[in-house]
Amino acid sequence: MIRTSLSLLLLVLIPLASFGQQSALNEQKELLARLTGHKPIRANVQLKDRYTQESRKITAEYLKGLIGEFCDESEIDNYSPTGNNVVGTIFATSQTDRWIVIGAHYDSVKDCPGANDNATGVALAYSVAKHVASLETRNYNLKIVFFDEEERGLIGSKAYAKKLLEEKLNVISVHTIDQLGWDEDGDRGIELEVPAEHILDLYTKVAGEFNYTFPIQISDVTSTDHRSFRQLGFAATGITEEYKNGDTTPHYHRSTDTYETVHFEYLSFITEYVKKVFEDIMR
Ligand SMILES: [Zn+2]
Repeated sequence: MIRTSLSLLLLVLIPLASFGQQSALNEQKELLARLTGHKPIRANVQLKDRYTQESRKITAEYLKGLIGEFCDESEIDNYSPTGNNVVGTIFATSQTDRWIVIGAHYDSVKDCPGANDNATGVALAYSVAKHVASLETRNYNLKIVFFDEEERGLIGSKAYAKKLLEEKLNVISVHTIDQLGWDEDGDRGIELEVPAEHILDLYTKVAGEFNYTFPIQISDVTSTDHRSFRQLGFAATGITEEYKNGDTTPHYHRSTDTYETVHFEYLSFITEYVKKVFEDIMR
């Protein structure tokens, strides 16, 4: 009798779990389609890239609308005459002054749809933050930030790191994602870029707990947003595909970095993993 109920329960649970993952994947596909010009981002506007002032502004407004659905607060942080970070806040469910930051740049280079670089990072950060918002218990506050002007010299993330310092926020860790949509060899490998020790421990522990056997490589790459935070003394890491280990998109900064060339199953798998990491943090 017990065995029957258990197997019934499992039969129910498994489809529900994969249904959840499927709908998260569909949301990420939709987000990528809008950001890359695969679909219009608003009526009569289909983005060719996210390079011009106008296309970045439209993207920022679109992203603010998306995170506004689950964040306690959302705003466009107009840090300079040319730059706009999109910032969402999700408060802890317990009283705490501790903060976690997850972020990804949303701008692209000229004439590049920027699907892998970096609509994939935006999609991962979006899904993880949305998941965090749905948790019953959160022992940390969360900032989700979409950085502008990364491709012009990490300008948006520098401005945001400076703001965190000025506001004296007690930030425990910063996680930035850049390029997570290529896995030609099918090993689902990722790289953690210059992870602070407690961050590396966390990612390794969670991978072990869930029997995730993909390779996690450590790299010394600092040419993206996490550098801005480390420079100001924050504990940070970058998360990316096997950028240094030779399994990275051949479409980098080209007009062919399109929706069609993204490995969505890989993006979705790593998103589920980073969700587990954030569940562990928030516990
Ligand atoms: Zn990038």
